[in-house]
Amino acid sequence: MVQVNDSYLRLKAGYLFPEIARRVKAFTEAHPEAAVIRLGIGDVTEPLPAACREAMQRAIEAMGTREGFHGYGPEQGYGWLREAIARHDFQARGCEVSAEEIFISDGSKCDSSNILDILGAGNRIAVTDPVYPVYVDSNVMAGRTGDADGGGRYGGLTYLPITAANGFVAPLPEQPVDLIYLCFPNNPTGAVATREQLKQWVDYALANNALILFDAAYEAFISDPELPHSIYEIEGARRCAIEFRSFSKNAGFTGTRCAFTVVPRGLTGTTAAGEPVELWGLWNRRQSTKFNGVSYIVQRGAEAVYSPEGQEQVRALIGFYMENAAIIRRELEAAGLQVYGGQQAPYVWIKTPEGLDSWGFFDHLLNQAHVVGTPGSGFGAAGEGYFRLSAFNSRANVDEAMRRIRAL
Ligand SMILES: *Cc1c(COP(=O)(O)O)cnc(C)c1O
Repeated sequence: MVQVNDSYLRLKAGYLFPEIARRVKAFTEAHPEAAVIRLGIGDVTEPLPAACREAMQRAIEAMGTREGFHGYGPEQGYGWLREAIARHDFQARGCEVSAEEIFISDGSKCDSSNILDILGAGNRIAVTDPVYPVYVDSNVMAGRTGDADGGGRYGGLTYLPITAANGFVAPLPEQPVDLIYLCFPNNPTGAVATREQLKQWVDYALANNALILFDAAYEAFISDPELPHSIYEIEGARRCAIEFRSFSKNAGFTGTRCAFTVVPRGLTGTTAAGEPVELWGLWNRRQSTKFNGVSYIVQRGAEAVYSPEGQEQVRALIGFYMENAAIIRRELEAAGLQVYGGQQAPYVWIKTPEGLDSWGFFDHLLNQAHVVGTPGSGFGAAGEGYFRLSAFNSRANVDEAMRRIRAL
């Protein structure tokens, strides 16, 4: 008899995006003439930078020659890409990260869930509320949680509420935890952490032998020179943190797929018998066995992000989205709404107006302005009363959506 992984049955049915789709479909069927604008998506909209495309085209040509053909590559990624990342993203910012500590992958969504492979079942886990749903669902699938309660919170997880009251930076947990998921700049709230705030977390992790899983997929959207881009800018983080990065949001690789994970040498966990074990070796073994690398062509495209032209083009892309975010913030404030985020991140997090909860505001915007966003309550119970708009869109769509909201 074939047994299934029962843990999957614990997952609360994917409610948020199907429910959005259902309401939008019902509305467009009733109002076929309405031009609905979607500002709910977490996907980029602008074309790939030319430097990346040209590098990929050269790689394709090379693959058509005997000398330039590449078969299986190193499971950890090509050395030239790992070197470029270590130099530009870390050493240039004063972080001690070497090429061998960088593992190239097909996505940081994948890595942030795959990492559970090398971590024990008994870890006590903390997540923020609201949260990027992947961190929670991957723990549910791996059998690391209990059942969900009526509010969608899983037993066994420690939820750290992030709201306007704490500046959307998670408070330290009151009961001890072993694994902590942090995401800065944050999806969905658009919040960023200062050096001092991250230092509190690093100090907590070092004092409690905990591991921080730090998702920095949006670091390129930071423009304030005082803010850290990497957790390794904080003293001691090499001994307590793994960092996830991606080319998805900075260089538009969401459909092309390339990301990387940093596992510092000397960072350890503990065996059941109480012995320290280097996580680097476990992750290297996991990737060597279960992963066969990102295509040569795509890695050449990612390498081009670090060329002078690539850097300039990526800066222009980010600048374009951040101008969208600035327009959204300005127009919503002018419409009398309380807005957060959107200054160092492509997401604007809105307090819903008096008398409307997250779904109430969703229906209001859809019916009155024909604009689709994402209800904050879909990211967790503490997201109730908030709403996310994304800056990933064309300028024309952003301008038109804001004109309609202003006119309400
Ligand atoms: C978009 C996003 C990522 C990137 O995922 P990829 O698999 O690399 O495309 C990672 N974390 C968060 C929170 C995101 O929103």
